[in-house]
Amino acid sequence: MDNLRRLQSDWQFDGYKVLEGRHSIILDGEDIVDVLPQDEADQKYGHIEPETFEGCTIMPGMVNCHAHVIMPGDGSEAEVMFGRDNEILLLQGYTNALKSLASGVTTLADFGDRDDITFHLREAIECGAAIGPRMILSGRPLTIPEGHAWNMNGVVRNEAEARALAREVFSKGADVLKIMASGGGTAGSDPYNPQFPVSILEACVEEAREAGKPTAAHTSNIQCIREVIEAGFDIVAHGSFHDSEGNLVGLDPVSAEMALERGVYWNPTLAVARSGIRHMEKTGTGDPEVLAEKKAKWARRAEGVRQMYEMGIPVIAGSDEGFGTYAFGGHWLELEALVDAGIPEDAVLSGTTILPARALGMDHLVGSLESGKKADLMIVAGKPFEDITLTAKAERVILAGEDVDLGETFLDFE
Ligand SMILES: [Zn+2]
Repeated sequence: MDNLRRLQSDWQFDGYKVLEGRHSIILDGEDIVDVLPQDEADQKYGHIEPETFEGCTIMPGMVNCHAHVIMPGDGSEAEVMFGRDNEILLLQGYTNALKSLASGVTTLADFGDRDDITFHLREAIECGAAIGPRMILSGRPLTIPEGHAWNMNGVVRNEAEARALAREVFSKGADVLKIMASGGGTAGSDPYNPQFPVSILEACVEEAREAGKPTAAHTSNIQCIREVIEAGFDIVAHGSFHDSEGNLVGLDPVSAEMALERGVYWNPTLAVARSGIRHMEKTGTGDPEVLAEKKAKWARRAEGVRQMYEMGIPVIAGSDEGFGTYAFGGHWLELEALVDAGIPEDAVLSGTTILPARALGMDHLVGSLESGKKADLMIVAGKPFEDITLTAKAERVILAGEDVDLGETFLDFE
């Protein structure tokens, strides 16, 4: 019983809901062993001096289901970023992982490696050579020659190569298969059309199911979204409803119905789209007409995401940090964007705890305050379930039962 800790606070969000009344969370080493109302905890664990966080909420550590740790998020051009050696990108990944953890993200899913950098990073964290969150890895995302993120070295030319790469990343320890199903921000790729034939999408799902792992698809057009859902993908990333000419609607009802029916998790990455807008506003750069157009498109997408939430589609928070001008440590900006889209705060908190844990097949370990789960916690001042922006600052981060103390100096978000 030596390892027992008893944490208590004014409010608790357990991953599903706000608990009624004060509760105690009992930790034994790296595990949560009990979550009890105060009076019951007094009886059962009265002998343990409680650690009390006055005016705070205890919640599960956040899960960020979509990030790119090897990317700086400082607006660098792709040629500059990917012109760097892997050793530099590994250090970039380490710094980003630290920032994530300090911000309260205790489980970080990386959706875009180059070569095997993130596997090395995770190994370094696991053997104690580096400090970082739990890492869920996709390895290299599959793409086509000169397609989106080709510079991550996951180019495949046919079904046999797609299957081979899928097997390779799983053999290296990937937890999820990521495929760039449509083009994207990479110059020369086409965001408005699928990159792969349906047969390759199906082959990817088959390989992942064989390995017992989930699948995630980067998509930004209607045809591609319908195809990946039909093929059986578990997570739709971005999911912006463009037609083949690039016209954007907020919602494609057919895709939404399919997603609902198939139990697809929706990762809309609303903040990364807005990070460009905010960057333009802050720096006073860019054409005002372009800015207005970007804002209008963002509002349209946000409205579509709200409608999908209301239909019952699980909306999960993955920030796409590292991309564009979206720096690490700002996962909360995605939560803010989801609230601004019209999703209630408590649902957004579930969308960054239990729901992404489920989507990634990690809910047996993380995502909620429940006995048997890992003691990954974030303690936030005030009531983040009423004001989501409070998640911008963690009063305390606990990873596997240990307090994370990284100082605040390198977290620079306002
Ligand atoms: Zn991404």
